[in-house]
Amino acid sequence: MFQELDVRYDNSFREEDPTPDSVALIFRGDAVLARKTEKGLALPTFGELPEPGEKRAFRYAFTLGSRSFFLADQTEGGTLPEEGEDFSFVPTREYRAMGPKETVFAAAVGESLHRWYGAARFCGRCGAAMRDSDTERARICPACGLTLYPKISPAVIVAVTDGDRLLLTKYQGRAFKRYALVAGFNEIGESIEDTVRREVLEETGLRVKNLRFYKSQPWVFTDSLLMGFYCELDGSDRITIQESELSEAGWYARDEIPSDHSNISLTGEMIERFRSGK
Ligand SMILES: [Zn+2]
Repeated sequence: MFQELDVRYDNSFREEDPTPDSVALIFRGDAVLARKTEKGLALPTFGELPEPGEKRAFRYAFTLGSRSFFLADQTEGGTLPEEGEDFSFVPTREYRAMGPKETVFAAAVGESLHRWYGAARFCGRCGAAMRDSDTERARICPACGLTLYPKISPAVIVAVTDGDRLLLTKYQGRAFKRYALVAGFNEIGESIEDTVRREVLEETGLRVKNLRFYKSQPWVFTDSLLMGFYCELDGSDRITIQESELSEAGWYARDEIPSDHSNISLTGEMIERFRSGK
């Protein structure tokens, strides 16, 4: 999966200034300022920036291995570097398929933070301009005290099995056309196990038992945290698909499972794990 790195991701809260070796995360819409090299995506260091930005326009974001990353603040002013000869804005849909995975991960995490800071400029309760907390990654309203934390939505990915068969789906009306598993967001007041049971029932009409948590994946492309579960069919295997969510759903024997699935996602790993008999 794309976030399983060979270097340590440290996102503890810090206030720090960039050095020439620090990496700049600069976004325009859903694209990151980067260079495309033979080795894949390369993000600019402060030493390489075509036109150095003012320090106040960057926030410390996180450290990967020995490199620290700083996020451009495009919401509260400050001049920012523009595209240069070497650097251009590379869209997410393009860079997420590129390597190296540490760089793709850094860009995607930065983009999620960038979306959140952009959406947390003003207080949703009283409308005042919000400011950064001095002690944690949060935005605080100086007028009414509301505190906002980065947005992370919990969601489930569910592999429903029936002996040697796996339930595969295809999403309705989305760019992602490969085989997938049942998936959906947790609702307020609901345990994650109940999310699994509800999503399977809503999307396919099936009931499940013996839920087993597999692993989680921070899916920063959509600001969500995916939790992967395997579970077994309980009762009838007759599928009734929810047409607003799925275009297709069906039972596939282990040796019929297509190998056409994502290799960066938890979904892809869970399908492959079942297919290879683990
Ligand atoms: Zn407020």
